[in-house]
Amino acid sequence: MSEEIKNGKVVSFSYTLRDEDGNVVEQSEPGRPLEYLHGNHNIIPGLENQLTGMKQGDTKVVKVEPKEGYGEYDNNLLFKVPKANFPQEVELYPGMEFQTDTDEGVMIVTIKEIDGDTVIVDANHPMAGQALNFDVKIESVRDATDQEKAHGHVHAHGHDH
Ligand code: ZN
Repeated sequence: MSEEIKNGKVVSFSYTLRDEDGNVVEQSEPGRPLEYLHGNHNIIPGLENQLTGMKQGDTKVVKVEPKEGYGEYDNNLLFKVPKANFPQEVELYPGMEFQTDTDEGVMIVTIKEIDGDTVIVDANHPMAGQALNFDVKIESVRDATDQEKAHGHVHAHGHDH
């Protein structure tokens, strides 16, 4: 029985994510596909949309433009922070990532530049402004349980509440 991916289905898929230069950015571990509830925006919208209608065993190369992925690169997300605000014992360098608490929760930010006593911090997602290329294989498609539908997410691997 092959079920098509549509809203209310729990989809399990394996994937490899490559950037525009073909470098592997991220991939699912072998034998440990990602599971999500289709139609609930549990994964990035550009990927979710293009999985609609696929079936178990199907493979596809899905290209996602920045606006449907991690967003366009936004210069307004560059912030100047006094170096004195950082822990003194940490040696700062461009490309360094760290967590920070904001009004909208914990964010990962990247140090873009160090200019004297000022640190320029980039709060864009590391993949912002980039097209994403996913190699996707659908491992299984099943109906969501009523509880999963009510919660809007998957209860996998014995997770229940
Ligand atoms: Zn739940």
